[in-house]
Amino acid sequence: MKDNYDLVVIGGGPGGYEAAIRAGQLGMSVACIEKRVYKGEPALGGTCLNVGCIPSKALLDSSHRYEATKHDLDEHGISTGDVAINIEKNDRA
Ligand SMILES: Cc1cc2nc3c(=O)[nH]c(=O)nc-3n(C[C@H](O)[C@H](O)[C@H](O)COP(=O)(O)OP(=O)(O)OC[C@H]3O[C@@H](n4cnc5c(N)ncnc54)[C@H](O)[C@@H]3O)c2cc1C
Repeated sequence: MKDNYDLVVIGGGPGGYEAAIRAGQLGMSVACIEKRVYKGEPALGGTCLNVGCIPSKALLDSSHRYEATKHDLDEHGISTGDVAINIEKNDRA
């Protein structure tokens, strides 16, 4: 890494990475600093990607699929065994 940049952006969420990318596109040398680590690796994307928008929509999708599998398939003549939720497999936090 260099010691000097035209711009240092603190935070790699949607606000930060957009600012960093745009400044880079405009020709500035940019560093984007993010403190979040996930499983030992730097985790860009901020609240939205890691714990907000995307995981919440993934959980909503999972809950719709669970509901449909548990309650709606029978009327289509499809039988299922036990249907269970394994939240660990869905967890990104
Ligand atoms: C449950 C939930 C669901 C959401 N769903 C939606 C949705 O469907 N649609 C939508 O538009 N928005 C949604 N949002 C809102 C969206 O997540 C935020 O608007 C967006 O993440 C804000 O971006 P940001 O870059 O300002 O902040 P953040 O995404 O919070 O990013 C800030 C980053 O800065 C880092 N940081 C903070 N301090 C430091 C420091 N000192 N040094 C280094 N790094 C630092 C943080 O670790 C973080 O990664 C949701 C939010 C939540 C909580």
